[in-house]
Amino acid sequence: MASEKPFLSVVVPVFNEELTIEKMYERVKKALEEDALTFEIIIVNDGSYDSTVEKVKRLCSIDNRVKLVSFSRNFGHQIAISAGLDKSRGQVVVIIDADLQDPPELIPKMIKMWENGCEVVYAVRKKRKGDSFFKRFTAALFYRTLRILSPVEIPLDAGDFRLLDRKVVDVLKRMRERSRFVRGMVSWIGFRQGKIEYVREKRIAGETKYPLRKMISFAIDGILSFSNLPLRLSSAFGFIAAVISFILLLYGIWIKVFYPSKTIPGWTSLFVVILFFSGIQLVCIGILGEYVGRAYEECKKRPLYIVDEEVNFD
Ligand code: UDP
Ligand code: MG
Repeated sequence: MASEKPFLSVVVPVFNEELTIEKMYERVKKALEEDALTFEIIIVNDGSYDSTVEKVKRLCSIDNRVKLVSFSRNFGHQIAISAGLDKSRGQVVVIIDADLQDPPELIPKMIKMWENGCEVVYAVRKKRKGDSFFKRFTAALFYRTLRILSPVEIPLDAGDFRLLDRKVVDVLKRMRERSRFVRGMVSWIGFRQGKIEYVREKRIAGETKYPLRKMISFAIDGILSFSNLPLRLSSAFGFIAAVISFILLLYGIWIKVFYPSKTIPGWTSLFVVILFFSGIQLVCIGILGEYVGRAYEECKKRPLYIVDEEVNFD
């Protein structure tokens, strides 16, 4: 707990954000300077192929508080956040998206809460203005499913827009797993967590960088890295299937003994039963495979990301 204003690191992951990056810088700078904060803005370029990097470099040359870490290719949002945390030096770190869906004006409020003893301040979306019905619905469903499946209590409707104390960042830096679901990892770490509510705005420009494919794999990562329940569910499927087939077996014997004339028809039921059980088997193998695949990825121990270039780090 500190009474002086802390040194703040703002981590911004960017992927093809040429339309938003400068506006983001202006608004973050304004919000922080109004509150007389000293800060650095660490922009992590996650393999952009538009003019984002040139724009960031220009910002770096006019303001040395802006720092750039540039990846060799796209490694994904969660890994970009992790790289920013690795590079940050602040006593407090705030993670924010480049598209200004999360208002930077909230940062001073988060810092107040930190001064009052919170080591994590996460921001809960009370309302999502810009997002489609589909996105809002699937996101709500996802957070609630995760809550049921995971033994770690992960707050509902909170994204990565959050403040972290240095202590928390240092623990996160030691967690090098590849399937990264940062918001879950932060909950797993613990410490005193506070929440703040806000209205999630529309993206100021450009398109979402999370197409459906990325959203699905993000959701699967979240669930599989924080729950083993799917594995148990697949055992449960197997058990239920075994019980059903045993009952069918008894029924078959019963018919054979007492109504032998009725035993020839049965093609359809046989077919359905075979399909049903092979379906269950495939689902279970698939679930198992997801975990095995992740274990394989982890044991390769490749670096999480590859840095191509850094600007303004001394
Ligand atoms: N982003 C990234 N790498 C990716 C996808 C997204 O660094 O592969 C960044 C993106 O530039 C933005 C933030 O992550 O700053 C959140 O992405 P976006 O706003 O597109 O997601 P949404 O808000 O639509 O879920
Ligand atoms: Mg966004």
